[in-house]
Amino acid sequence: MLDGGIAGGVIVEARNAVKQFVIKTGLMNSRAAGVVRAVDDVSFVIRENQTFALVGESGCGKTTVANLILKLLDLTSGEILYRGASLADMPSADVKNYRRNVQAVLQDPYGALNPRMRVGHIIGEPLEVHGFAKGERAGRVAEALQSVGLHESVQSQFPHEFSGGQRQRIGVARALTLHPDLIVLDEPVSSLDVSIRSQVLNLLKDIQDERRISYVLISHDLASVEHMSHIIGVMYLGKLVELGDAELSCAEPLHPYTASLVAAATPPGSTPGWRIPIVGEVPSALETPSGCSFHPRCPYAMAVCREERPALAATPDGRMVACHLYPDEIRNVDKQAPVGPGGAALPVAAGAG
Ligand code: SF4
Repeated sequence: MLDGGIAGGVIVEARNAVKQFVIKTGLMNSRAAGVVRAVDDVSFVIRENQTFALVGESGCGKTTVANLILKLLDLTSGEILYRGASLADMPSADVKNYRRNVQAVLQDPYGALNPRMRVGHIIGEPLEVHGFAKGERAGRVAEALQSVGLHESVQSQFPHEFSGGQRQRIGVARALTLHPDLIVLDEPVSSLDVSIRSQVLNLLKDIQDERRISYVLISHDLASVEHMSHIIGVMYLGKLVELGDAELSCAEPLHPYTASLVAAATPPGSTPGWRIPIVGEVPSALETPSGCSFHPRCPYAMAVCREERPALAATPDGRMVACHLYPDEIRNVDKQAPVGPGGAALPVAAGAG
């Protein structure tokens, strides 16, 4: 089960998506130094009116997934479908429609807005590119500004006149003008003051409720995704290691890496449950560890972990996990007799508590 059991029409589906980059070296980059599998056999489903969060440390592949969804990169193998149509085979007329329906809000609200353009022009530019008449552009810009809580009069101002939080609202307004059904939010609050973050996240949640749009939320910080995500995908060195209900995975993580991210996002002792202090750094993607790539950092690593890569497999509560702590009979239960959310309890990992 790749969608955590949440019902609703499918907007985007990734099937065994792989993205490799060949790293070149030498004079004029003439020699291949190695191949990085930035995204390695990743599958997931994003449904209507749903927030799908991709979390992990820098270098885990989440931004590459975002760029594949935005069609800024092409897949090496596998497939990404938008409403059932493969992005790779999409005719150019449909690509234009796709770019209208799938928008992005970038991490840096300072760098994302052209400092020489007035706010009205910045927000209205996508409408201009897509051939909207002047009258309709004005109406949509005003509507988008209202949705993000900014007054119409700000249209004549320049980006430098606004705070970080206000600039991010302008970025969100720009993404809304084309009435998209999916917005990729790439670390939308990581460069903002902590006091402003929850305001922007609450605004995004309100917009989702009002417009019934879907989000792909990219973040390295579980704390900022927990309260607005429905499904969470935890990535490590290009692979999904846990996938499923966001609330459940934040409260009761299955994978030791997820437990480390939860521990990093919560003050010590603030929440009960399985928390593992994160140690070390993400290894180089050019030298991925054998077996489970998390084993050099995992306090539960066993001999099998160094030799055998664990497959992502279903658990009785509808999530998926790639970890040898969970025995095959539990991981494979979905193949024998599907069990929905609220089914049998998961095994307690050694050292949990
Ligand atoms: Fe740790 Fe082994 Fe699970 Fe990898 S497979 S996360 S090393 S217990």
